[in-house]
Amino acid sequence: MSVIQIMDEDLANKIAAGEVVERTMNVVKELVENAIDAKSTEIKIELIDAGIKEIRVIDNGIGMNKEDAVLAFSRHATSKLKTLDDLFHIHSLGFRGEALPSIAAVSHLVLKTSDGKEGTLVEIDGGKMKDVTSCDLRKGCDITVSDLFYNTPVRLKYLKNMYTELAHITDYVHKMALSYPMIQFQLKNNGKLLLSTDGSNRLLKVINDIYGLAVTKKMVEINGENDDYLVHGYISYPELMKSNRNAITVLVNGRFIKNNELNKIITESYHTYMPPDKYPIVILSIEADPILIDVNVHPTKMDIKFSKMETLKELITSLITDKLEHLTLIPDASVTTVVEGNSTKISNHYSTPTTQEFDYVVKEKEFENYEKMTLNLEVKKEDEVIDSLKDKEERDALPFDDEDEDETPRMKEMYPVGLVHGTYIVAENEDGMFLIDQHAANERINYEYYLAEMSRPKKEKMDLLVPITVELPTNEYLILKENFNVLEDLGFLFEEFGRNTIIIRTIPLWLRRSREEDAIHKIIDIIVETEDFKSEKFFHYIAATVACKASIKANDFITLDEMRTLLSRLRSCKNPFTCPHGRPTVITYSKYELERLFKRAM
Ligand code: ZN
Ligand code: ZN
Repeated sequence: MSVIQIMDEDLANKIAAGEVVERTMNVVKELVENAIDAKSTEIKIELIDAGIKEIRVIDNGIGMNKEDAVLAFSRHATSKLKTLDDLFHIHSLGFRGEALPSIAAVSHLVLKTSDGKEGTLVEIDGGKMKDVTSCDLRKGCDITVSDLFYNTPVRLKYLKNMYTELAHITDYVHKMALSYPMIQFQLKNNGKLLLSTDGSNRLLKVINDIYGLAVTKKMVEINGENDDYLVHGYISYPELMKSNRNAITVLVNGRFIKNNELNKIITESYHTYMPPDKYPIVILSIEADPILIDVNVHPTKMDIKFSKMETLKELITSLITDKLEHLTLIPDASVTTVVEGNSTKISNHYSTPTTQEFDYVVKEKEFENYEKMTLNLEVKKEDEVIDSLKDKEERDALPFDDEDEDETPRMKEMYPVGLVHGTYIVAENEDGMFLIDQHAANERINYEYYLAEMSRPKKEKMDLLVPITVELPTNEYLILKENFNVLEDLGFLFEEFGRNTIIIRTIPLWLRRSREEDAIHKIIDIIVETEDFKSEKFFHYIAATVACKASIKANDFITLDEMRTLLSRLRSCKNPFTCPHGRPTVITYSKYELERLFKRAM
């Protein structure tokens, strides 16, 4: 019996609206997704000139009989959809069936297919069926689409954009390989191998095949669930920065989607671990009851809506931040791990790391995870709690060690040896040598301090010996006046003092640590520019700005003692590894790396 069914007119039109073949990528997508729906375990994609000259997709799926092979090119045929309702409850990749005739209409197409019993060859030219014959083929499909757009004016446009086309296709095949680690993918352009995965159903192995070993080493696994969602995947160390969101891959029930809100949640989980214009590499697989998912009406957008977004957001955010909070994130000075560029460059540095190398990384990772699980889980003893209460007043006077005092520092102790260029502290411990950016380190310390102080409900205040007056242009003063309460909430006492001027007599105690006047002007600037004072971002911005102002600068020659204090304070930070702007505070040459560089160890 034929597996392809004729779908109704309404559905055909609905799909056709969004299913226009615009790029070579659309063709590759259609053919690859057909291959996946046909239960293939091996899919080979061979391109000539980024698919502009030729796209060939070979699979080992269930194939078609003669009747289906011919029917596949009639405009209203689809094996997947019957009614419009099905479109929204579809479990296969769906949405297509309509694209195949569209592709055939703008190319020379040869389909060879076999269901294991008979082999069929169908040849179509610009939408006209030329030939249907029998042929020999093992089970599966082998489709060649050549001279795409040869009978349309768009063709010329694409000839100019070969690399863009290739980048789109590569990106798409990467995402499919990540979505289907159990399928063996191979992608070639002009005979050159761009990607090869082994179908062994190991996600980390696919990550390795796509991004290489250096990246794979810096990926960590996350795993978690709540009542509605199950999340599994890999996230990169913050040092692996990309300048675009392309390396964030989100799969929902095994299907690749694009969702800006999820991308934002992921990126924001890296807040202050990474500069704001950089993005991590993340592969996240979400499993959810289809009832919670609303497929976007426009089938080509690959977007969906979640009905319980808040709980999903909480889950993802906590999984990523918890993971980042338990990693030692000191980048290795001798390894360049910043991943830049786009996927077109992959053809230049594609190499297959040996399986042995990869297996080693996997073992190392398992060990790491084990180590992390055996983290200090000591329960605070009763007397310690009492002790800490006793000292509380004293402790409150010290800016650094309130809360979290029994938490193991995330960084080993480092001993300073000197200063380079009045900027970088050189330090050491048994693990190796460290370079610390004194400004970035100080900024992180101050930032966490200000942030903690600002979020205290009751703020201690101090009177200024000499009050500070601030005069603003009328427009800015009006905005400030409207937000006097924000300034009060931050702990300032002030009054209006003549035209467009306020006089500040009392400031929050925490501001004492900075150059007050400078800091006050900065804070007022921020209030005048900001729109949302309630958000965490407002506090983050004030804390980061004031911290920068209050921190030692480059070319401040600090003493060894000051370095010691700085390093020990850095160690007690929640995140000692990056400044509030996401730049690293410390990099390292490991002991082994030093020995290797000096050829003491090979
Ligand atoms: Zn700064
Ligand atoms: Zn900074």
